[in-house]
Amino acid sequence: MTKTYTCRDVGVDCDWATSGETEDEVMANIGAHAAEVHSDIELTPKLLTAVKAVIKDA
Ligand SMILES: [Zn+2]
Repeated sequence: MTKTYTCRDVGVDCDWATSGETEDEVMANIGAHAAEVHSDIELTPKLLTAVKAVIKDA
């Protein structure tokens, strides 16, 4: 099972996508991407919950 995520899924105007074998792996990728590209977006607990909600099984 692969987990996938794209920034667009949470309404961010960005075509970046990532995938991983576990939610933790995907969240780590997202954290690194957010720090690098979306430093203006604050990763609040609410946003992290929204992010986890849109991670899909592919
Ligand atoms: Zn992005």
